[in-house]
This record gives sequence, structure tokens and C-alpha cells, in this order.
Amino acid sequence: MSERYFVDPRIVDDRARLVGVEAHHLVHVMRGRPGDRVTLFDGSGLEFTAEVSELRRDEVELKVVARHEADRELAFRLTLAVALPKGDRQRWLVEKAVELGVARVIPLRTARSVAKPGRGAIQRMARWVVDASKQCGRNRLMEIGEPRTWSDLLADSNEIPLRILAHPTPKDPACGNDADFEFLRVPAGHPRDEVIAAIGPEGGFTSEEVAAAREADWRAVNLGPRTLRIETAATVLASLVMTHRGC
Ligand code: SAM
Repeated sequence: MSERYFVDPRIVDDRARLVGVEAHHLVHVMRGRPGDRVTLFDGSGLEFTAEVSELRRDEVELKVVARHEADRELAFRLTLAVALPKGDRQRWLVEKAVELGVARVIPLRTARSVAKPGRGAIQRMARWVVDASKQCGRNRLMEIGEPRTWSDLLADSNEIPLRILAHPTPKDPACGNDADFEFLRVPAGHPRDEVIAAIGPEGGFTSEEVAAAREADWRAVNLGPRTLRIETAATVLASLVMTHRGC
């Protein structure tokens, strides 16, 4: 059995315990047995091989038999600030962001935002992060940040060296050459540091929001002549940054 299970809190010795949905997965879905070997991760970057020692209805005890560092993170830190789409598309966005190696998703409140993520929505997103990490092999959890307004995000992001927003304005000279994403590359000799990329709501960023971003030295990026849905724009933009900055 090579299934991956998430352990919380972190593993500190040679014992681990699964509870809740993780225990349910092993006991009732995978029909685990004492002696089975599984892979555990606890968000610390380590990966553990563990042997099932005892199974109860809603709890599993395991003995850790090996541990090793398995770093599957991007070579730089990528934050996506996204005016969240609704329903299933939100889950899709979180899954793809985890698979692509995004370090943090910040739910964005803009003038035209529709989805207003509350505490419950943030918790659901955090659970999707675990599910996607189990599937794709990441050993660090993508962070779901506190929701931010556009003005707060601009004010809080000054320290991040590269700040971009997706904005479909092909004829706007400030967007540069449409197909030219060379500026995303890391200049020779520079560390690969951090990038923040913002994606607007279905109604788009307002011109005031775009002007405020430019004022704060954000660069607008055009992703082609078609209007992409929020989650598509987010994955395309993350992929472009990875392609140019290394993954
Ligand atoms: N009519 C809206 C507009 O003009 O901005 C379209 C909004 S689109 C459904 C949602 C978000 O995805 C946009 O705010 C933008 O961040 C991003 N987006 C979608 N298509 C894009 C494109 N071709 N170029 C750049 N950004 C795009």
C-alpha cells in the first residue's frame, strides 16, 4: 500500500496517529490492516514510512520506521492573490495551485468580487489543500491566507520583489509586448526570491484598481486575446511564472 496520509500535529518521535478523515480513509476506504506500510507527511517537508500497529473505528496508531526530506517545492515562493470563483471552481483552483507548487493563496476582495470567503470557506479550502497534497506528493502545505482587500494587498506587498496582476488590456502599452514574459526571468546573479500574482473577479479589476496597482509598481500582464475564467487565468499565470523562473 503506498497511499499518503496527513498527520496533524507534527510527528516528533517514532509514533504517529491518524484521526478524522485521514483515519477514515485508511480504515474504511483502503481497508488497512496491522503491519501495512504507508507514507505519512505532516507539513514539515519530511516524508515518513510508517507501519500500522493498531486500527480502531476512527483512529489509527502507527510506528514510524523511516523518515527523509522530500522537497517538492518551487525554487522560489509564489503567492496567488485571487478574487475567488464560486462553487466547484474554487476547489479546482485550490487543487491546481497546490499541484503547481504555489506557496500561498490569498482570497482577494475587490470592488467587483462576488464570492466573500468566510471562516467556513477558508477551512474547506484548507482541507482541499491536504487532499491535493496527498495526491501530488507535496510535503509542505500551501497556505490559505486571510482574505485581503485590494488596497490592503497593495500596501502589504511592497517587500515582494516581483508583483504582477493579470489584466486583459492588449492595447495598453503598459502591458508590454503580449507574448513577452521575459521580465519574469530572474536576472543572473539574483536569488529566486518571491513573486506575487493577482487575478481579478469575473467582472475584472476596475480601472481605479489597476491604476492603484501601477502606482504601487505592480506590472499588468496580458494573457492573450481570450477572456479566461478566474481559475484558468490563475493556473496560466502560475505556469508562466514557473516556466520563466524555474520549477
Ligand atoms: N471582463 C473582465 C475584464 O475585462 O477584466 C474579465 C474578467 S476575467 C473573467 C477574470 C480575471 O481573470 C481578470 O480580472 C484577470 O485577472 C484574469 N484574466 C482573464 N483573462 C485574461 C487575459 N486574457 N489576460 C489577462 N488577464 C486575464
